[in-house]
Amino acid sequence: MLYRGRYAPSPTGWLHLGNARTALVAWWRARSLRGRFILRVEDLDRPRTVVEAVSGNLDELRWLGIDWDEGPDVGGPHAPYLQSEREDLYRATLDRLRVKGSIFECYLSRKELRELSSAPHGQTPTYGPSERAANERATRRKVQGGKSPSLRYRVPDTVIEFEDAWAGPQAASALTDIGDIVVYRADGAWAYQLAVVADDIAMGVTEVVRGDDLLPSTAAQILLYRALGAAPPSFAHLPLLKGTDGGRLSKRRGSLTLKALREVGVPAGRVVGLLAYSLGLLENPAELSAAEALRHFDPSHIVWTPFRLAEPHLAWLGARPK
Ligand code: GLU
Repeated sequence: MLYRGRYAPSPTGWLHLGNARTALVAWWRARSLRGRFILRVEDLDRPRTVVEAVSGNLDELRWLGIDWDEGPDVGGPHAPYLQSEREDLYRATLDRLRVKGSIFECYLSRKELRELSSAPHGQTPTYGPSERAANERATRRKVQGGKSPSLRYRVPDTVIEFEDAWAGPQAASALTDIGDIVVYRADGAWAYQLAVVADDIAMGVTEVVRGDDLLPSTAAQILLYRALGAAPPSFAHLPLLKGTDGGRLSKRRGSLTLKALREVGVPAGRVVGLLAYSLGLLENPAELSAAEALRHFDPSHIVWTPFRLAEPHLAWLGARPK
């Protein structure tokens, strides 16, 4: 079977070094297996979308030396490649779930959900039987109050087990670990889980390579594949790159973006070399193109612990971004 991989940025800001690392690995993986590489822009969250980042993210990736066989600018058999233009597919996918009687309206706000549960502070609890019951109690009052619901997929009582190509064996209980899945948000946006599954099915993706911040979403996605009667792709999750303070890099905080590095004159080859080194693919940082680094790509050499950037790494890039 022809390998079909993808990188799917959310244009909520400029890509940072961690995004670049994931994109490179996804690209090396597809190219090393002589597969196709798809670029899909996940611009469904309108309030958070930064309009210039939609094409800006593509420029950043091109600067890094990544190319794609299908994408918003080059087209392809599964166009369009912008999620904001694929609503018909999401509606049809929702209808297929609805026919099975597994979609329901949820009127509970995040605040109400937090109050209902013993989930740790700030976390929204898993949506299970007690949340379903609370929603039923609140529905009539909320409908009268004119509140718009979100739509959720009611998960069956089952256990999802899968083998992540890199993170190893995984298991999650649908009722206690995953909970009923939001497929359409109360603010009128299609939910990530529904869109990503609908698109990966439609685009024939055979393997999903992405950061392991999305590992917890994978079991929910597998439930949706099953509900839609589709075989899930394989999954390969990569540990994240950490900032010098040990925290997550954030697009919103604008940390270490490719745009900023490029503007202060850092060569793309240094970024590629540093990231290949951070993955354990090079013994030392070196300056080389993404295509040259492909020779060094061997998933069995990847170091499966998060890599924390340090000052010498940034100094090696040769310019200090603001
Ligand atoms: N759009 C998501 C992000 O930028 C990635 C989704 C995915 O790879 O499944 O975090």
